[in-house]
Amino acid sequence: MRTDVSEELFDRARRVIPGGVNSPVRAFSAVGGTPRFLARGEGAYVHDVDGNRYLDLVGSWGPLICGHAHPSVVAAARSALEAGSSFGASTEGEVLLAEAIVDAVPSCEQVRLVSSGTEAAMSAVRLARAATGRDKVLKFVGHYHGHADALLAAAGSGVATLGIPGSPGVTAGATGDTVLVEWNDPEALREALAVHGDDTAAIIAEPVPANMNLVPPLDGFLATLREQATRHGALLIFDEVISGFRLSRGGAQQLHGVTPDLTVLGKVVGGGFPLAAFGGSAEVMGRLAPEGDVYQAGTLSGNPVAVAAGRAQLDLLTDEVYARLGAVTRRLADGVAAALADAGVPAQVTRHATLAGIVFADDAPVSYADVAAADQGRYAAFFRGMLDRGVYLAPSGFEVVFTSTALTDDDVEVVVDAAAATAAELAAG
Ligand SMILES: *Cc1c(COP(=O)(O)O)cnc(C)c1O
Repeated sequence: MRTDVSEELFDRARRVIPGGVNSPVRAFSAVGGTPRFLARGEGAYVHDVDGNRYLDLVGSWGPLICGHAHPSVVAAARSALEAGSSFGASTEGEVLLAEAIVDAVPSCEQVRLVSSGTEAAMSAVRLARAATGRDKVLKFVGHYHGHADALLAAAGSGVATLGIPGSPGVTAGATGDTVLVEWNDPEALREALAVHGDDTAAIIAEPVPANMNLVPPLDGFLATLREQATRHGALLIFDEVISGFRLSRGGAQQLHGVTPDLTVLGKVVGGGFPLAAFGGSAEVMGRLAPEGDVYQAGTLSGNPVAVAAGRAQLDLLTDEVYARLGAVTRRLADGVAAALADAGVPAQVTRHATLAGIVFADDAPVSYADVAAADQGRYAAFFRGMLDRGVYLAPSGFEVVFTSTALTDDDVEVVVDAAAATAAELAAG
């Protein structure tokens, strides 16, 4: 496979961009090899600058649930762009997108639109602190809520990939009010709240964690979060930046029937553009300026092009679409699991509705520690084997498999065949 154009661009990139990338996991540090510079995407496929084509199972890390350059998303964005890229004043599209979100997501009576998931999570935490008059935030080890200082303690995703415990530059003061608890451990949660309950403004969680590979909640754990938050007078924040509009139209909260106080959205909701949101009850959201006293603002918030793309994508996402995507994801996950098992490679392919994850371990992971203890070297080898065969998986064993409605049965076969060939290679050592 030719990669010389990507290699040359990566060399040039490293001179002018730290590490050659604008977000760390893109650099392939965890898996080795040359990060591909992508030129074009259509449906389930992407093309790199060397002329290689890959079946894409990253989908821009989640936003592209309908595949690349979906005609109706492109048309909506183009027509919005031709009417002006940004006004810094209100537009009709913002109202329509907010109405669509409020209609779909059980916990949201009001939402505010922002430009990134990081910003949305940071703002939700600020709001929770203001609403409760408390300082502490309880987060789970390995959950990722963007790179705001207070939430950058034992975070997943790129932080996990790089093995950075938090990050230099984050002060002890910034994370001093962040309490860390192991995921899927109700006893640890109760113990932490027994100590910090009176000072805890919020429990924040990815309801279906997907930044430490895929580690779904054990039965009843989300209900325990709800019960414990209520008991201690803390707000429950679900960070549904990945799970929102992906697991179901109403996200993990709809799928699991557990309603948080605040919800953080991103990725799918923006249709591939920089758009995110946070929402909750009208009472709590009413604390935001200009109605209330909690400051939060953004020059490009509710950007008309992003809003148009987001609306167009949400319009495509009916219950039938989620059912079909779930079935495709199941076929893909089962096929890859069977390919690895047939070759005698110990692996766990976890699936939860429309999300999947591949971990090289003997048992299904239930915590961050389980994923960290899995064979990351083997994930890297699997990644490289799949890439050589034209399947683009996430370049880190701490990420998940993102399927899209553009995947056909034939595409699933391509993935399963590549997995079988790669598994045989791994088994042969
Ligand atoms: C991606 C992600 C974020 C951060 O969103 P950005 O748009 O990258 O800032 C926050 N929370 C979760 C769960 C995410 O997956």
